[in-house]
Amino acid sequence: MSSKNIPKNKNYPKLSKATSGYLELENFEKSDLNTGYFCYDCLYFIEDDDCAIVRQQGPDVNGKESGTIAPHGICTLWTPDENKTH
Ligand code: SF4
Repeated sequence: MSSKNIPKNKNYPKLSKATSGYLELENFEKSDLNTGYFCYDCLYFIEDDDCAIVRQQGPDVNGKESGTIAPHGICTLWTPDENKTH
């Protein structure tokens, strides 16, 4: 079990994907996401498709709008979740 202690208040202001530097790494979609720099391994990731500090909606740095925070995504604020990375 994760010992995350991040507020899940939906009204908390989040950054846009473009500001955070978010993008999705399609080539890694089917990879083992337990080892690497992915949203899946980030402290702020909320399974299965959200982030505590970056908004799901809006364009990412490539202008793409997926409407989700993908497990195979990444942004400049990535912080390792010690319970997941190994
Ligand atoms: S890397 Fe972390 S902070 Fe950035 S969008 Fe993914 S889960 Fe959120």
